[in-house]
Amino acid sequence: MNRKTALTAAVAAALTLGSAVVASSQNVALASPTTQSGAGFQAMSTVGRLTAMEQAGREADAVAKSLGLGSDERLLAKDVLVDNDGSRHVRYDRTYRGLPVVGGDLVVHRAKNGRITSTTWAHEGAIKVAGLSPRLSTQDASATAERSAKHVKQARTGTLDSSQLVVWAVGKVPVLAYRSTVTGAGEAGAQSREAVLVDAASGAVLDQYELEQGVSGTGNGVNVGQVTVETSQGGSGYTLTDALHGSTIVYDSYNSPQSNPAQNARTFSKSSNSWGNGSTSSRESAAVDASYGLAKTWDFYKSTFNRSGIRNDGRGAPAYVHVDNQLLNAFYDDSCFCMSFGDGSSQNGNIPLTALDVSGHEMSHGVTAATANLNYSGESGGLNEATSDIFGTMVEFYAGNSTDPGDYYIGEKLNMGNGYLRRMDNPAADGSSLSCYSSRAGQVDVHYSSGIANHFFYLTAEGTGAKTIGGLPHNGTPCNGDSFGGIGKDKAAQIWYRALSTYMTSTTNYSAARTATLQAAADLYGANSQERYIVSKAWAAVSIGTALPDPGNGTPSPSPTGTGSPSPTASPTNPNPGNALTNGGFEQGATGWTQSANDITDSTQQQAHGGTWYAWMMGYGSAATESLAQNGIAVPAAGSPKLTFWLKVTTAESGSTVYDTLKVKVNGTALATYSNANASAGYVQKTVDLSAYRGQTVNLEFAGQEDAYLATTFLVDDVAIG
Ligand SMILES: [Zn+2]
Repeated sequence: MNRKTALTAAVAAALTLGSAVVASSQNVALASPTTQSGAGFQAMSTVGRLTAMEQAGREADAVAKSLGLGSDERLLAKDVLVDNDGSRHVRYDRTYRGLPVVGGDLVVHRAKNGRITSTTWAHEGAIKVAGLSPRLSTQDASATAERSAKHVKQARTGTLDSSQLVVWAVGKVPVLAYRSTVTGAGEAGAQSREAVLVDAASGAVLDQYELEQGVSGTGNGVNVGQVTVETSQGGSGYTLTDALHGSTIVYDSYNSPQSNPAQNARTFSKSSNSWGNGSTSSRESAAVDASYGLAKTWDFYKSTFNRSGIRNDGRGAPAYVHVDNQLLNAFYDDSCFCMSFGDGSSQNGNIPLTALDVSGHEMSHGVTAATANLNYSGESGGLNEATSDIFGTMVEFYAGNSTDPGDYYIGEKLNMGNGYLRRMDNPAADGSSLSCYSSRAGQVDVHYSSGIANHFFYLTAEGTGAKTIGGLPHNGTPCNGDSFGGIGKDKAAQIWYRALSTYMTSTTNYSAARTATLQAAADLYGANSQERYIVSKAWAAVSIGTALPDPGNGTPSPSPTGTGSPSPTASPTNPNPGNALTNGGFEQGATGWTQSANDITDSTQQQAHGGTWYAWMMGYGSAATESLAQNGIAVPAAGSPKLTFWLKVTTAESGSTVYDTLKVKVNGTALATYSNANASAGYVQKTVDLSAYRGQTVNLEFAGQEDAYLATTFLVDDVAIG
């Protein structure tokens, strides 16, 4: 998939200087140093890597056994590299009775036929620790760390979590130890951090080192104004490495060719933590735009969809600003997992292509590549482009930046001749984009056919008619003369993301996109919901399909953006008779649920109570919290409504002292608490009285909490309210 996706073709086509633009070409991407190709390794696709990691995970127990590791040890797959000849190198981390083993990592080398040829060990062989009862308390360890810190002054541990039990296997004899983090005055300023490893029996300091420091700097961007940027501080100064967002680094491409933006790239580094001057006279200003925009995009995906970065693996993609010369475009390139931003050209007064919605647009191309992977030509290409415009727009709303408030225009900050690059409310206004579906859709440039889906999204969110949004005039102009109110941009975005990540594939066309969004709307809001009805009306309004019959239950809340929107009335009906919950048995995966970790699973490592899916909560063996929640549940108004569910608790703790808990909360109030003391061999049904909530709409949460030591697992299944 060496595919490169561009911000625009429209501008390029209109430019005399546009001959170097490679908007929709597929073969321009050269491997940059950040890809895994080269060094004898095969380049791996996202799916290929996921498959290899899953296989490594499945093999972990067998590998541990064949290497002679003990029954207390577990291997966790961390990375897989595949040679050109098919041999594999699988990197594992190790745990000992649930505790991380520092120095327990190893690499297993397998021939193409799967045979293990050799192993590279950090600590060879099985690990045995005399006892797992620390003589030192957590407080003792923290006090020792504070006293012993070498790299920071006035060292303090923050919370109890600052000292965690680990197995220290760096020395000859593995020992139980605390890894403490202290904060104090050091090279990285007043909040410098240092890790101190303390022997949990003797209190001796085993090791200590500085931790990389994420700090907040100030930036002055060309497009985003004065903002906070997340940077990193090392010994000699600051760099534009965003430690809070997957270590996303913004580089100065130094006018490298767009085919290889890394060619002459340099890091931005300086002694002060203040970046850019608000104009292009400083090379840092465009970098501030990109750093800020990509961080906001990351936060949008995390807070809206619980997605950690482009590939949901917590890793940031490098970004290059000042790419090429007079480049009025921006790109995401999946082969280098990187983004490129041009400086603009004389056509737009040399405003760099680093506006907020452009950063959101480019990073979203990465999300599309990691999910539906919509082919970048024909109708699927239009849907690919529209996905980037939709989420780029959502990022602009999410950021709430007063210099660039949210609107449904793309690139309105870029000083284009007509004031924008594209408009979602009225795509055809730019003279090239399609507002309505026709048989031409698959033949025009993907940046024009995207107009149909952009228009659909706008109408779903905001409905028909004129509005002012973000200070700009908008006018939802349906192709069929219909008139209706929208369901709000947040719900429309939930539907689009669910459709993209669950029901779209590389070949999805407009008709299949309609089906995908109707399915997503049914999953999220019910088959007879007003939301799903409006989705069908919005598709009909861009000449795709006919509207579903009106379910007749009013306009959904929350209200759409902007002025002139209809006021909300009734909420959607629930499609599950007898159970007020959506997907209480988890057989539809995460549908209806919000989870802080990927707890909902059909893993065969544990068993479901009914069906094949269940929620696997906690079991870390270290301090941790998790949440599994469903909101907007209509508790029956009659009888004695109750919550029932099946629970299986397994624990490494012993005795009846409560260490690890699972709480059932309704509207944030804990109604029941289960713990390691409730361990059982099989599932046990639990009942919680909900009479107090009769007839109310409530939020349900299962909230797990573990202490620093010894794992307790809570399996939850077949949850019902009735
Ligand atoms: Zn694009």
